[in-house]
Amino acid sequence: MGIDQTMSDFDQLQYQAKTVSELTIIIQAKKIPNALLFSGNENTGRKESAFLFAKACNCLKETGIACNTCKSCRKIDADSHPDILCVNLRKGKKIISISQIREMGLAISSKPNEAKFRMVLILNADLMNRQAQNALLKMLEEPPEKTFFILIANKTSYLLPTIISRCRDIRFKPLTDKLIEHCLINEFKVDKQMAVIASKTADSDLKKAMMYLNLNQNDEAKDVDWIKRRKWLLNALASIIKTDSNTCISKGLMLSQKLSFNPDLIDDTIAIMKTFFRDLMIFKLYPKKIVNLDFFDTFTDISQMVETKKKCDWTGYLYETEKRLASNCTLRLTLDKFFLKIVTNKRKLIYD
Ligand SMILES: [Zn+2]
Repeated sequence: MGIDQTMSDFDQLQYQAKTVSELTIIIQAKKIPNALLFSGNENTGRKESAFLFAKACNCLKETGIACNTCKSCRKIDADSHPDILCVNLRKGKKIISISQIREMGLAISSKPNEAKFRMVLILNADLMNRQAQNALLKMLEEPPEKTFFILIANKTSYLLPTIISRCRDIRFKPLTDKLIEHCLINEFKVDKQMAVIASKTADSDLKKAMMYLNLNQNDEAKDVDWIKRRKWLLNALASIIKTDSNTCISKGLMLSQKLSFNPDLIDDTIAIMKTFFRDLMIFKLYPKKIVNLDFFDTFTDISQMVETKKKCDWTGYLYETEKRLASNCTLRLTLDKFFLKIVTNKRKLIYD
């Protein structure tokens, strides 16, 4: 597994200067910790940094930074270095299991083949279940020779405190909306309004912002036209709110059905829905602060139709829905319930 090339045309690490220099100091001091925890949001350059770190530790030129030309650097880049191991979620799975950690343990039970420092990279380390974490903890307590672990995690609170205490914590700060906006405008020549919309919808994640603007080249989601999908979704939500009570029930259920056809897109769909309900909630007070500025006229229409209390309730329902989906509730039923709640709340009936 090599460096994630999907962002090759845009270097996330240029915004992590402090973190990169912290890692360089570690290498130059020749005191490589047994375990490092790279914490932070998605797409802040953590995986890229892990590979750069492994290259720099093993670079034959020994300058403390990766030369990218020696045999070792090239092997790591080509994904053919025998001492660079990576553990990640298996396809279709939501947790990293103990068998994966045991398998890795077996692979590192003998000495490294050729590396000065072998790297075991654990992506999505916060998705290891408890047994897997306990198995890993044993390895961290008695680390194999010339081996360091890098754990990449979003939610460090999911990790055992005993694991965290054995790791040197390296934090990757999230990019700000403004920074993402600036990148989109300057690097990708996106117009200002769309740059604002994408950066605010993407919640500090540049790669996501690029996805919403169909800018990602090698992304698995490239088949989805997010510009079109976002417009369709916002129009569909506005239409549910605009129409009379009987029609809006069927519209809500129809939208629920359509959204549940694409479970893989649900997180980003919810992200867009959140901007819609948030905009609706704040429009009367701060019309210029809404995210979906290209729907300004729509919000002018619909914000008059609903009282503020309901708008707040709806946003609350959406957050509940997001939580339910994260705890594996059935997608269709959860979305049905969400839209029915919106519709019935609109009609001033009590539904639960
Ligand atoms: Zn090198």
